[in-house]
Amino acid sequence: MDSLFEYRNCPGCGQNDFEVLFESNIKPDDFNVLFDYSMEGHDSQEGMEGYLVPGKEWGRHVRCKNCRLIYMNPMEKVSKTNEYYCKAKNTHAPTIRECYLRIAKSQVRLIQKYASGTNLLDIGCAQGFFLFSASRAGYTTKGIEISQDAAAYAIREFGLDVKAKPFEELRFPENHFDVVTLWQVLEHVPYPLMMLKEVHRILKPGGLVVASTPNIEGIPAKILRKRWWDIKRLHLNQFTTKTLADILQNAGFKNMSAVSYRGFVSLSILLTMTLKYLDAYERLKALFNPDHILGKMLNKIMLIYSSRLNHCVVLGFK
Ligand SMILES: [Zn+2]
Repeated sequence: MDSLFEYRNCPGCGQNDFEVLFESNIKPDDFNVLFDYSMEGHDSQEGMEGYLVPGKEWGRHVRCKNCRLIYMNPMEKVSKTNEYYCKAKNTHAPTIRECYLRIAKSQVRLIQKYASGTNLLDIGCAQGFFLFSASRAGYTTKGIEISQDAAAYAIREFGLDVKAKPFEELRFPENHFDVVTLWQVLEHVPYPLMMLKEVHRILKPGGLVVASTPNIEGIPAKILRKRWWDIKRLHLNQFTTKTLADILQNAGFKNMSAVSYRGFVSLSILLTMTLKYLDAYERLKALFNPDHILGKMLNKIMLIYSSRLNHCVVLGFK
């Protein structure tokens, strides 16, 4: 059983001195069952089948005694999770499209306040909602997305320049980009410090990096604890605004600041999540089909919130 997992030193500072916060409840045999997107062969028409499952499975979480970063240790083998990401299907795109496009616009407005050039790279660009908004605002955009299906969506729907490859394989030139963004990426990355050092290398001097992650000190995390929806099998690192700023600093960035943007959540996503917490989603899921009139309506009604509620957003400069 142990061979399914690998141990790592603290991904924030490299030390190996930690306290255990809670133990794992992963059942290795069910590897594909509870991921948040449908797998090939388990297609769902609704596109919300496994989406936003409240934390049901997680690995052992530890806190580094040196830098206070919370991370999964051991974690599942990187080769196994990478294989999952490559094959992950993008069936929930129609459901999230409207609200993610609105979020993307707020994210672009945030970038515009701080960026000094327009050559932009988005790492882990998913379906390309942010890149699409950025390109409409005049940025020259490139995206990287390991999920083949999400990358294909970004190319097909928005005509974006997106590479479906791991970031480490794409050796971009040094001092090349004005802006690099990592929206909800670092919590998935086994070695985030290594990734951020590479981001630092490819940014121009004075270039802007923006990273967002779930916030383990946010209100939902404090109330729901292990049942918080962002405690899950694929979230290998759990940041606070402080530990996110620290890891950026360790990668060489300076003048970090915590910022926020306006978030949007459709009634459809909010209700789905609530019903999943109440174990009532299965009985009512037909209501959320985006192809039907009610599903369409629920998708159109948006609630506005501040990203501060559940996310850390930190920017810094090279
Ligand atoms: Zn550490």
